[in-house]
Amino acid sequence: MTTHANSLDAALRERARRVVPGGMWGHLHADKLPANYPQFFSRAEGCRLWDVDGRAYLDFMCSWGPNLLGHHHPEVEAAAERQARLGDCMNGPAQTMVELAELMVDTVAHADWAQLQKNGTDATTTCVTIARAATTRRKVLVARGAYHGAVPWCSPSLLGITAEDRAHIMFYDYNNAESLREAAAQAGDDLACIIASAFRHDLGRDQELPSRAFAETARAICDARGAALILDEVRAGFRLHLAGSWEPFGVKPDLAAWSKALANGYPLAAVTGRDWLKEAAAQIFVTGSFWCGAVPMAAAIATLTVLRRGGVIEHLAAMGEKLRVGISDLARRHEVGLRQSGPAQMPMVLFDDDADFRKGELFCRTALAKGVYFHPRHNMFLCAAHGEAEIEEALRAADAGLQAVAEHVRATT
Ligand code: PMP
Repeated sequence: MTTHANSLDAALRERARRVVPGGMWGHLHADKLPANYPQFFSRAEGCRLWDVDGRAYLDFMCSWGPNLLGHHHPEVEAAAERQARLGDCMNGPAQTMVELAELMVDTVAHADWAQLQKNGTDATTTCVTIARAATTRRKVLVARGAYHGAVPWCSPSLLGITAEDRAHIMFYDYNNAESLREAAAQAGDDLACIIASAFRHDLGRDQELPSRAFAETARAICDARGAALILDEVRAGFRLHLAGSWEPFGVKPDLAAWSKALANGYPLAAVTGRDWLKEAAAQIFVTGSFWCGAVPMAAAIATLTVLRRGGVIEHLAAMGEKLRVGISDLARRHEVGLRQSGPAQMPMVLFDDDADFRKGELFCRTALAKGVYFHPRHNMFLCAAHGEAEIEEALRAADAGLQAVAEHVRATT
C-alpha cells in the first residue's frame, strides 16, 4: 500500500477498487510490490517513467519487457504514426502483415513462416494447439514453475481451472535432461510437444541459463518421437540473440512464441514455425478482433529493422554487466550477501537468507526513494536507452539500498 495517502495514486486506487475487481489484476497489482511503489503512471520517455503524482523514475522493468529500444524511439514512432494515418484496425490486415512475416522469417533462424497475434499467451497457446494438431497427440511437457501465460492450460493459479484443463500437461525440471527423458517416457506415444522458456526465469528464484545438454536433449527427444519443440521467447526474445535464444547452441525449435519486445511496446505477438507444422498452423482455428492491427506491425518492422543494424543486444549486455559488477562491488563493500543470475541484460538480484524477500523489498523501496525502479523478485530488463550515466545513477540508488539492507541486518542479528 502507498504511504502517500493524499496522492492522486491513492485516490485512483480507491476509485479503481469500486469499479475494477481487486482494483487491479495479476502481478502488476501494486499491493504485490514494495510499499510506496506507484500503481498508476502518467508518461514514459526512453528509460524513464513518471507516476501520476509527477515522481520520476529511472526504470529497470521496461514495461515488464516490451520497452526494448526506449519509449518513443523515433524510428518506431514514425513508422507507427505513418501507419496510423493510413489505418490500423480494418477489415483485414494491411501490407505490413506480409512485410513483417517476411522480416521475421529472414531474421529468426528456425522460422519458415510466421503468424501474428496480440499477447504472449496467444502465441504459447497457439504453439501447443499447432503441435497437437500436427501430431494428433495430447501430452505437453512443461517445466515446473515456468510461466507461459494466463489461460487454463498454463495459469499459475488453479482457481477457476479444472483438472480436465490440465489433464495432458506433464512436468519436468528445467535444465535437467534426465527429468525431461523421464517425462517423455511417461508421455509415451501421446507426446505432442515439449515447451521450454529461452532460459529459466521463474519468479523469486535464481535465473538459470539453459545448459547445452538440456537444449540438445529436448531437441533429440522431439526428433526421435516426432514431437514439436516449442521455445517460449516471449520474455527473452530479441534480448539474447536476434535469430533465436538457443542459436548459440545450434538448437532450433520447431515453434517459437514471441511478444513483449517485438514491437517496442505496441501490442503484438507472433508464432514462428518450421515447414512441417505449416499445414497444421493453417488448419487450426485462431483469430482475434485486433490481431490484424496494422500499427503494431509497422512498429515491429521498425523495431526489427533497428535490431538488424546490430549493436542493441551488445549494448544491453554491456550495460547490464556494468550494473551487475557495480552491484557486486557495492554488496561487498556493505558486506551484504546477494546473488545475481541469468543474462546481464535481464538482471535478477536476490539476497541471501531472504526467504520472505524483506531485504529485497527494503533494497527496492530505498532505491525507489532515490528515483530508481527495481523489482525484488521478478527479473528486470534493460533497454537501449540505458547508458553509462543511467547505470551510474542506478548504482548510486543501489548503494543507498544496500546500506539500508546492511543496517537492517545489523539491527536484527
Ligand atoms: N511466456 C513468458 C515467458 C512470459 O514471460 C509471459 C508474460 N510475462 C507470457 C508467456 C505471457 O505473455 P502475455 O502476458 O503477453 O500473455
